[in-house]
Amino acid sequence: MIFDLHTHTSASDGVLSPRELVTQAQLANVAVLAITDHDTLAGYQQASSLELGTMQLIPGIELSAQWHTTGVHVVGLNVDPNSYSLRQIIATQQRARRARAVTIAERLAKRGLGDLFEQANQVAELGNIGRPHFAQVLVNNGLVRTFSEAFNKYLGNGKIGDVPSTWLPLDEIVQGIRDAGGVAVLAHPDKYAVTQSKLVRLIDDFLAAGGQALEVISGRQTASRTRELGALCSQKGLHASCGSDFHKPGQSWADLGRHGLLPDNCRPVWDIW
Ligand code: AMP
Ligand code: MN
Ligand code: MN
Ligand code: MN
Repeated sequence: MIFDLHTHTSASDGVLSPRELVTQAQLANVAVLAITDHDTLAGYQQASSLELGTMQLIPGIELSAQWHTTGVHVVGLNVDPNSYSLRQIIATQQRARRARAVTIAERLAKRGLGDLFEQANQVAELGNIGRPHFAQVLVNNGLVRTFSEAFNKYLGNGKIGDVPSTWLPLDEIVQGIRDAGGVAVLAHPDKYAVTQSKLVRLIDDFLAAGGQALEVISGRQTASRTRELGALCSQKGLHASCGSDFHKPGQSWADLGRHGLLPDNCRPVWDIW
């Protein structure tokens, strides 16, 4: 059975609408799909009213969190979409995103790229505005050739448009997911520019806050890294999650449902629900 527990729709920075994502997941034989848009449940909510056939849809969210000076992502799975505490967190995060987007636009304007806020807002539609929407505008305006170039030149880590935002602290994010009846998963451990020992400290703090699972597989990664992360996951007593982190068809890091199976010695996160 294919479990894809980390995907995005146009409600955040994914390209497919919730309906298109559901259709593509069905075509890819995904048995259990979690929609985990950045800081919003809107994509899940739209998808939940669709005809899903035999596919199971899990309400999910990917929340940005602050851990010391590092921004990290926590996926909440099987959350109650009507949870009051989660709604409060979402409202706070969305305000932080908007404020950050204004600063990103100002900084890019200072580089002589023009005021891109309104265009980025348009690209985001109802989605939660973020760096990928600015990347798309830079491409659309011919200011860079590709999406990757936009990140490499202007938006990636340490670049002018990488505006530090103050997300809610890690422990509040984890607690909010738990209060909403969900499972808190530390997303894509290899995407934080931290040493292995710092990653272990992050996992320990995540556990202390009530975190329950680690994303042992995120998109395409080597079999040896999957084994290492699987071992770390078991050693820390965490459950294991997996997902493609799908944003658009043809993305380089694994298509929908094509991220592979969890190692046998891991306790899968779906055992919790
Ligand atoms: P934000 O939520 O605004 O901080 O933007 C982060 C999102 O940008 C991630 O979830 C990815 O979807 C995307 N992203 C980050 N780095 C890159 C990159 N180097 N190339 C393409 N997309 C990226
Ligand atoms: Mn994203
Ligand atoms: Mn992420
Ligand atoms: Mn993601």
